[in-house]
Amino acid sequence: MTGLVALVDCNNFYASCERVFQPALRGKPVVVLSNNDGCVIARSNEAKALGVETGAPWHLYRKRFEELGVVVRSSNYTLYGDMSARVMTILADFTPSREVYSIDEAFLDVAGSPDVLAEHASRLRQTVLQWTGIPVSVGIAPTKVLESFRG
Ligand SMILES: [Mg+2]
Repeated sequence: MTGLVALVDCNNFYASCERVFQPALRGKPVVVLSNNDGCVIARSNEAKALGVETGAPWHLYRKRFEELGVVVRSSNYTLYGDMSARVMTILADFTPSREVYSIDEAFLDVAGSPDVLAEHASRLRQTVLQWTGIPVSVGIAPTKVLESFRG
């Protein structure tokens, strides 16, 4: 098989960035707020499991978050931009045909059998996690708008 596209997407990107240099936040519900602490724009898996919604206005949920033990962070775009650059540099090492799509997503041209692609995706996820601390998901499909495999 040739001519496939992999979409690499950082998981819960802003919340994951907050954890990189604060390991004590791992395993805890973490949310990141929009500019001026308006509303929730990123949630860790633990915060999602508690039912915290994207867009939740901080001033309405502040007490509830305290009760639930949700760790709240103001957004830090300098940090997110830096972590994004680190992730994208690693992806470029995996393939010269990397297209940065957003701060936490990139398309890569890939080719190979399903087994080879699964191994490639697994190695990519492990490398990005090990070198940056950011967990990513990889979806592989014939085109940028179709998804047929997620590893
Ligand atoms: Mg993402």
